[in-house]
Amino acid sequence: MSRTEHEVALAAVREAAVLCRNVQLFIGPDALEKKDRSPVTVADFGSQALICRRLAEVFPDDPVMAEEDSTALREPAQAVLLARVVAEVRRLVPEATAETVCAWIDRGNLGAYRPRFWTLDPIDGTKGFLRGDQYAIALALIVEGDVQVAALACPNLSLRADSGASRGVVFTAVRGEGAWAWPLQGEGDPIRIQVSGVTNPAQARFCESFESAHSAHDAAAEVARRLGITIPPLRLDSQAKYALVARGEADLYLRLPTRPGYVENIWDHAAGALLVTEAGGCVTDIQGRPLRFDLGPALAENRGVVVSNGRLHERVLEALAAVGVA
Ligand code: AMP
Ligand code: MG
Repeated sequence: MSRTEHEVALAAVREAAVLCRNVQLFIGPDALEKKDRSPVTVADFGSQALICRRLAEVFPDDPVMAEEDSTALREPAQAVLLARVVAEVRRLVPEATAETVCAWIDRGNLGAYRPRFWTLDPIDGTKGFLRGDQYAIALALIVEGDVQVAALACPNLSLRADSGASRGVVFTAVRGEGAWAWPLQGEGDPIRIQVSGVTNPAQARFCESFESAHSAHDAAAEVARRLGITIPPLRLDSQAKYALVARGEADLYLRLPTRPGYVENIWDHAAGALLVTEAGGCVTDIQGRPLRFDLGPALAENRGVVVSNGRLHERVLEALAAVGVA
């Protein structure tokens, strides 16, 4: 059942990645200092429009739960921003208009759980996008609460872990069939990916959010000490962290709550979680519970996220409990 879904998801995130790259190319060094977030806004809306359009073409009955809606973009005061979004979309879909772009974006407005739906983060890791670092386009199909298909485009990550060249990779996974890395552009064959074989926690490489507001760095350092980890953490934005674990470049990804009330969103985890499990790894929350994708946009029954190569999972959960995080 998932072959077409897989192909469409791969093509959709590839197309959106072209738009994101076009926009990222023109972010000046002063964009961050001036706190001008408009590039990320343009790419966010443009990416969502392109992906929702593709899904609507092939799966007109599938709802999409995505991060953005066009309400703000339709306000007269945002006319310039809307024109920029439409111009970017037109580079890929020449017939696009303001009206069709807004309508495509609004196909992503599903607000509650359904037995079959897609979830989309059109730009995951917006801070990384603005910094010129890692970001991702994350798309997943959820059926009966399980992630069935995932596509994660990482335009600033290289296809192979050991090569700095050929920037840009798309990771895909199909439940029960495995996980792959594809060149972001071109027709190259995919590479099957697998988690690492590291069993000694002291040798583990772990990754976490670049932003300390998104994951408690101090608590992670305590967990690392407890496990005997001496390699400094890899800090990067977006679900690219899941991809690093899935292809064995890292052994762990810790996302530890920074404050009591924060609830994670499904579009920040669905694609990455299937990638890692299909590559042989394990994904739970900090208490060892599976992530629940059947409750709506929020991971309402989960706290934090622990991602591992599987072999290290129990030891990490024990360490989290021992230092009082879980
Ligand atoms: P990352 O790039 O891994 O740091 O994650 C980016 C995501 O963090 C964004 O898409 C937000 O949805 C999410 N986020 C925002 N605030 C928090 C928070 N306090 N704790 C955890 N995640 C957050
Ligand atoms: Mg996100």
